[in-house]
Amino acid sequence: MAEPILSIEHLTKSYDGKVNVLDDISFDVAKGEVVVLLGPSGCGKSTLLRCINALEKVQGGKVLLQGEDVQTAKDLPAIRQKIGMVFQSYDLFPHKTILQNITLAPRKVQKRSKEDAEEEAMQLLERVGLKELANRYPRQLSGGQKQRVAIVRALCMHPEILLFDEVTAALDPEMVREVLEVILGLARQKKTMLIVTHEMSFAEAVADRVLFLDGGHIVEENSPQGFFHSPKTERAKQFLSTFRYERDREE
Ligand code: ADP
Ligand code: MG
Repeated sequence: MAEPILSIEHLTKSYDGKVNVLDDISFDVAKGEVVVLLGPSGCGKSTLLRCINALEKVQGGKVLLQGEDVQTAKDLPAIRQKIGMVFQSYDLFPHKTILQNITLAPRKVQKRSKEDAEEEAMQLLERVGLKELANRYPRQLSGGQKQRVAIVRALCMHPEILLFDEVTAALDPEMVREVLEVILGLARQKKTMLIVTHEMSFAEAVADRVLFLDGGHIVEENSPQGFFHSPKTERAKQFLSTFRYERDREE
């Protein structure tokens, strides 16, 4: 296996000191790999992504990014630059243009020149079909367009790994596909990604590996083919059945 970009070792997280939301979680994400994290609502998927970014303190275990412990990092901003995170809400600055939103962190945090940051931003916007909207403000964009901007903003920082947390969950159905297509394109470019999603056919298409989280544990680890067509655990079968509708009508 290729070198791991991310290693989670025996991670334990509790919010109240009693119940472990994450209980002894361990897995790696290799360079160029796409890992999809699935599980029922409330099972701790967002918590896990937030622990990776050190937005949450943990009670035990480690998050290693290229061997460096994120939770105890002395220079947290430096390590956070290596992690691109895209959430359900886009968090674009309303009073800044799309181009300004994208180039803000490359210029302020990475001290890149305006010209350099803007040139790359424009190239990335072109790739996601939004070059013409560079000088608009967020309110002038649809939800799907804003979410594509949020992805471009993350990419412009050249992260080692991208974390996606249900990025299409708040979108109208007709906008879901345009965002998922962008992420599929990133997978083709061999970007390293950890993706939380409820879009099952997308998950199957994009994943190199599926992790199924429930009750604080990784209940099943499988290939996408295996997980979606012959899951190993009863719990996974049950979870997948919640996405299917049975035909149950009198003829
Ligand atoms: P998921 O993303 O899989 O739906 P979350 O990580 O959001 O799950 O939540 C996992 C559990 O942790 C839930 O029971 C949730 O209520 C709880 N939780 C999440 N965030 C907090 C918080 N900031 N304080 C206390 N409990 C939280
Ligand atoms: Mg969540």
